[in-house]
Amino acid sequence: MFPKILAAYNLNTDDCTIAPFGSGLINHTWKIRCNDEQYILQCINIAVFKSPQAIADNLLALQKYLHATTPGYLFPTPLSTSDNTYLVIDDGRYYRLLPFVKNSHSVDVATEPSQAFEAARQFGKFSRLLNDFDASQLKYTLPDFHNLSLRAQQFQSALKHADQERLNIASTEIEAIKNYQDITQTYVDITKNATIPLRVIHHDTKINNVLFDADDKGLCVIDLDTVMPGYYISDAGDMMRTYLSPANEEEQELDKVCIREDYLKAIHDGYMSEMRDVLTPAEKALFYYSGKFMIYMQAMRFLTDYLNNDIYYHTTYPGQNLKRAQNQLRLLSELMKTYQRLGVDTQ
Ligand code: ADP
Ligand code: MG
Ligand code: MG
Repeated sequence: MFPKILAAYNLNTDDCTIAPFGSGLINHTWKIRCNDEQYILQCINIAVFKSPQAIADNLLALQKYLHATTPGYLFPTPLSTSDNTYLVIDDGRYYRLLPFVKNSHSVDVATEPSQAFEAARQFGKFSRLLNDFDASQLKYTLPDFHNLSLRAQQFQSALKHADQERLNIASTEIEAIKNYQDITQTYVDITKNATIPLRVIHHDTKINNVLFDADDKGLCVIDLDTVMPGYYISDAGDMMRTYLSPANEEEQELDKVCIREDYLKAIHDGYMSEMRDVLTPAEKALFYYSGKFMIYMQAMRFLTDYLNNDIYYHTTYPGQNLKRAQNQLRLLSELMKTYQRLGVDTQ
C-alpha cells in the first residue's frame, strides 16, 4: 500500500505495516510502523478542506514560531518530504505523514471530569502559547466556519426555499431557533467589540482531538486542520457542546441528553488554568455564553440542512437532520436550566 507516498519520505513500503487507525470522521487515517519508527498517515478530506496547502502553510508557520518560543512543546505537524513539501499528491488525493506520538491514546467520550479538565487545559495552553503570534498571518482553511451571522442568514434562506411539508414537520424547531435570536445578536456585538480579539483558535475541540498518556494526563492537541483566526468562544463552546452530555448529537433518545455539571466546572477550570491571564475581561464574561453559541449554531445548521433536503450532512435514516437539531435544542435547553440553577450570567 502507498509505495509512492511512502517513497516521498524515503520509506520503503516493504519495511512497513499499515493499518487504519482512530475514529476520526473527516480524514482517512492510518498508523504506519516502519522499522522502529511509527507514523500517522492521513488522506485529507478535500470535500471539506478545499486547500490542503493552506493547512500545511498554517502549520508550518505555527511550528516555526512554537519551536522558537517554546522549545519542547509537543506539536505533531506533518513531516517534510525529500522534496521539502509537506503534502504528497497521488491520483488527486492529498496525503501527509506525521510522527505518531508515542505512548499516547485518545478517547471518544469523556467518562471522567478529569479528562475534560485535561483536554480543556491542552486547548487553553495551545492558544496561550500563541497569544503573541499574529493570527492574521493564518489562512482561513474553512472560511466562515463559526460565523453565526452567516449561519443565521443561511437558515433564513432555507426557510424561504424549503418544501411546505418539511416546514410543517419542523415547525416547533423553527420556532425554537427563532426564539433564541438573542444568541445571534450577542455574536454580532462580539464581532464589533475591539476588546474581543481574533486569536489562534483550534475550532474542533472534540475530546478525541487531544492525546493522553497512560495516566490520562493530556499530552497535546492534534487534528490541526481547522486552526485559524477565531474567537475563543468557539473552543470553549465546542468543549461544552461535546463533553457536557454523555450522549452525543446522534442520540435519538433525547432523555439521554443531559448536562454533567462537574464537567462544566472541569472545562472552565482546565481552560482557565491556562488562559486566565490572557483573556480580556470582556472575553472572560463570555465563557458561559460560549456553550450557548456553539450548541445553538449546531442546532441551526442541522435544521437548515433538514430544510434544504439534507444536502450537507450525511444521513442514514429519514429525518436524521431534524432529529439532530432536536437533540441540540434539547442540549441547549438543558444548559439554560443548568445556568439558571447555578445563577450564572450568560449575556
Ligand atoms: P480527523 O480529522 O478525521 O478527526 P484526526 O487528525 O483527529 O483526524 O486523527 C484521527 C485519530 O488519529 C485521532 O483521534 C487520534 O486517535 C489519531 N491520531 C492522529 N494524529 C496522531 C498522532 N500524531 N499521534 C497519535 N495518534 C494520532
Ligand atoms: Mg479528529
Ligand atoms: Mg479533523
